[in-house]
Amino acid sequence: MLMDDVHRTGLSDKPVCECGRDRETADHFLIVCSRYEEERKQLRNSVSVILELAESNEQLTDSLLLSPANGITRKQDRQIKAALFRLALFSVHTDGEQGRNYAVFHPHP
Ligand SMILES: [Zn+2]
Repeated sequence: MLMDDVHRTGLSDKPVCECGRDRETADHFLIVCSRYEEERKQLRNSVSVILELAESNEQLTDSLLLSPANGITRKQDRQIKAALFRLALFSVHTDGEQGRNYAVFHPHP
């Protein structure tokens, strides 16, 4: 879970990401956080390939990653969401208070 969500459920007294820059929201995790630069690079590569294969005129922007709505097909939208899901799944997260590692969005809650 992202710290902002953990905070909202009352399990943590701080919503701030371990990088210390900001609240750990989905936007922060996907677009900003310095801890996931390598994973984000792979995500952007995957999404670029999807757009290229589809010969889409859509530009790869932050807002496209967050809500791919205009100018792409439902299939491309699903492919981009799958790439996002892979990023979330393989970004191992450290639970600061418990010292455990886990995926941000756990596949089996
Ligand atoms: Zn961060």
